[in-house]
This record gives sequence, C-alpha cells and structure tokens, in this order.
Amino acid sequence: MQPSLLPVLENIRLIVGDSYLLTKPEDKLRFSKDYTCSEIVVPLAVVIPNDVEQISKIVKICNDSEVSITVRGGGTGVSGGALAFNNRLIISLERLNKIIEINTIERFVTAEAGVITQDLRDEVLKCGLSFPQNISSSESSFIGGNVAVSSGSPKSLKYGPTKNYLLNMEVVLADGHVMWTGKHVTKNATGYNLTQLFAGSEGSLGIITKIVLQLVVPQQEILMMVSFLKIEQLFNCVYQLFADGYSPSSLEFIDKTGYEIAAAYLDKKFQLNINTEGILWIELEGSNNDVLLEEAGRISSLVNKFTEEEVYVTQSLGEIRNLWSLRSRLGEAVIQYTSFQDIDLIVPRSAIWSMYTAVKDIAEDCGLNFTIFGHIGNGNFHINLFRENLEQDKWDERKTAAVKQIFSIAVSLGGTISGEHGIGTVQLPYLYLAIPTYQLNLMKEIKQVFDPKNTFGYSLNM
Ligand SMILES: Cc1cc2nc3c(=O)[nH]c(=O)nc-3n(C[C@H](O)[C@H](O)[C@H](O)COP(=O)(O)OP(=O)(O)OC[C@H]3O[C@@H](n4cnc5c(N)ncnc54)[C@H](O)[C@@H]3O)c2cc1C
Repeated sequence: MQPSLLPVLENIRLIVGDSYLLTKPEDKLRFSKDYTCSEIVVPLAVVIPNDVEQISKIVKICNDSEVSITVRGGGTGVSGGALAFNNRLIISLERLNKIIEINTIERFVTAEAGVITQDLRDEVLKCGLSFPQNISSSESSFIGGNVAVSSGSPKSLKYGPTKNYLLNMEVVLADGHVMWTGKHVTKNATGYNLTQLFAGSEGSLGIITKIVLQLVVPQQEILMMVSFLKIEQLFNCVYQLFADGYSPSSLEFIDKTGYEIAAAYLDKKFQLNINTEGILWIELEGSNNDVLLEEAGRISSLVNKFTEEEVYVTQSLGEIRNLWSLRSRLGEAVIQYTSFQDIDLIVPRSAIWSMYTAVKDIAEDCGLNFTIFGHIGNGNFHINLFRENLEQDKWDERKTAAVKQIFSIAVSLGGTISGEHGIGTVQLPYLYLAIPTYQLNLMKEIKQVFDPKNTFGYSLNM
C-alpha cells in the first residue's frame, strides 16, 4: 500500500471503528468478486459504514485525498460495476439494512439502500402491499443495487423496471453533501428529474443511501408453462398473443440449452418432450379469479395453434414456484456450468425473431456455444456465451468478436446493449455502439458536474 494512503485509512477507521475497516487480504476476499466472471479484483480496503453521516464523512475524505471509491450493494451484479479495479476503496452498504417506514395511505416504503430485495418484498406484503419486482437475485441483491443498475424482472412486462417505482432518494455526493433528489409524492413537475438521473447511474454520480418506492396492491396470479418443438413457433405465439390484445404480467422463455442446464442443476424432471426447442411461461394477474381462469383458457387455445404440447396451468403457490424455477434459477445454473460472457440486450418486440436468428448465426460463426433466454415480452434477451474449454486468448478473441457483432445488430434493430444489467465495466467498451458521440459527451459533462475529481470512477473516456 502506498504510504500516502495510510493516514486516509486511519481517518476512516476513526469514523467506523476497527471492525468495519477491512484491510487484511482474507477479510477483503468476499468483496473481491461479483457474479460477472471468475475474476478476483482485490480492493485497497473495504469500509462498512453504519449510516449516512458516516458515509458522508468517508466520501469527503476520499474526495479530498483523491482516493477512488467503488460502491457495493449485494455484489450480485453481472456487469462488473461492484469490482474495485485500480485499487479503489469499497464502501459496502450492507449495514444500511433498515426499513424505515411502510406507509399504507400513501402506499410507499422508505428503506435504506442495503435492505435485501426479498426482505423488502416480504415486509410490504405483511402490510397488504406489493413491490412488484420479482428480480431473480432478490434473495441476495440489495434494493439500492437494484435502483443503481436500473434492474428489471419478469414482472417488468406489466409493471416496468424498478426505476418506475422511485419517488425519492437520499444520495451522498462526491463532496460529502447529502441531498434528497425529489419529494415523497407520486407526481412532480418541479425542475429536472434528478431521481431518474441517479437511477441506473451505477454508483458513478453518488451513493444512494435511502429510497422511497411506490407500492401497489397485490393481485391474484395464474401461471402457464408450455414447450415448443420448433422455437420459431414460440416466437410466432408471442407475436400472436400481443396481436390478439392479451397483456400478460410476465412472458418469459428459455431455449433448449438453457432448459438442459437448468434441469440438470435443479436435478428435476419436468416431463417435457425430449425434442423441446424452447419453453414459454405466461403469467396473468388480476383481481377476479373467474376472469383470470377464463382468460387462461382462451390463451391455452391460442397457444395450442403453435404447439401440440400440453399447457400446464396452475394457481398453486408451490407449483408456480416449481414451474418458475427452471427459468428463475437458470442464471445460477449457468454460473455453475462454465465461465461465460453475459449479454443483456433489448430490442423492440417486433424484432425478437430477427435478433434470435442473428445471435444463433453469430455464435455459430464464432465457434461458441450459448444459451438465450429472458424477458421475451419486453424483447430483453439474456445471452450467455460459454467459454467451456477454450484457452484464454481464443476465448477473448471469439467472445469480443461475437459480442461486438451481436450488439451492433441489436442497435441496428432499434434496440440497445443493456435492458437491465447495466454497463458496469464489462459493457463499457461497447457503449459507443449504442450511444452517439454527442450524447456521450453530454453524459461526460453531467459526470463532471457531479463528480469532478472522478472519485466514483466509471470513466466514459473510451
Ligand atoms: C442469479 C442472478 C440472477 C439475477 N437476476 C436478475 C434479474 O432478474 N433482473 C436483473 O435486472 N438483474 C438480475 N441479476 C443481476 C443483479 O442481481 C442486479 O443487477 C442487481 O440489481 C444488482 O444489485 P446488487 O445489490 O447486487 O448490486 P451490486 O452488484 O453490489 O452493484 C451493482 C452496481 O450498482 C452500484 N451500486 C450498488 N449499490 C449502490 C448504491 N446504494 N448507490 C450507488 N451505487 C450502487 C455498484 O457500484 C455497481 O456499479 C441477477 C444476478 C444473478 C447473479
């Protein structure tokens, strides 16, 4: 460690106490990885503050001493944003884990940024309300991380992404100043929307410490799962669902490879035809069960024009969890399967088949196996390109070629390079494909206003 950094760390130690400044390699290890890849990036040190006052003081010290910071939530990100490249100090939000208020009249929740997403969902449900984002990493990601990345979930088809539920946020700026970005109100036409500027800013403009989220009234659900022997028919079925005026709350799919990996990982048999090329999940929500059942019947008839396979329909909570597990736990399954490059592109719904065929062709040309799955109703695909046994240089060469071509096609189809996983460090080299230079320059100027010394990292100078 550079000697000049020692007094900085000593000052930080005085703020949080010995136990919450980690400098030993073994203590820093669990903060040296996220879910991006197998890469280990050891931070300068890790500080685990208890409240916004401590964070404000620490950030001011770092800014004055030109020590760069990486903000860390639950560490489940897949774009490398929580990795402390270039010997940065990690500020972990794990002790900011309190739910401050659940307001049933205003229907909002105020929480600290380090609350685990599922804990927040469970607590608001006890008050008869719902935070309608069933993000697959909800057992370990933090609500602050969800907001910082602008995450989504299967229910984003009906409810939009997490950022649509933001009413207000408390943030710590680079000079240590603490501010609220808006008001705890559902409409606000007063000035620029700084709340939405911080949503998706991935720790580059400041640290989100408290969040006020709009809640909704929970609905009854019905889930359908069906397999297709021809993947093109799965896509045709999706088009027809929308053309016929249906509005599912979730519409998700996985391909054959994803199915095989998830089923092996879960060690479960789903009695699907061995020639299955794709599986589709259709979830409906509503307040009237008879209407839901009737709609599910009509949708099953529509689906059976595209596949002869049986449509499983269930309202049992246990069965819903079981059927969803193939889809919702595929991310985990792939992590165990091999190293991979995650792609999270989004295209307009009308372009999903063109995008799917392009991915298949490009991956084959580059000699890479892959799985493609995700939020088909939003046009948001997750593509995992597999490294398998490739040597490092071959893997680097092939994945870079594939990613660049895939992103270029997504943009040419009217889409963009991330729907919900963010840019982080992994997508940064490709940002120029999606955002014109003029806009990128505006973003650099915004960054300069909020963080002139680049204390929060995230350089847009590609
Ligand atoms: C198995 C699995 C399933 C997943 N499923 C989904 C899914 O369904 N939908 C989806 O969108 N994503 C999914 N992800 C990706 C990931 O869980 C999300 O991006 C999540 O929102 C990250 O939250 P986190 O708290 O883990 O953030 P981290 O990984 O800790 O950080 C992510 C980024 O946000 C910044 N950050 C974190 N907290 C703050 C804060 N308080 N203030 C400012 N910046 C902050 C960090 O600096 C970093 O740039 C999944 C990941 C895994 C491993």
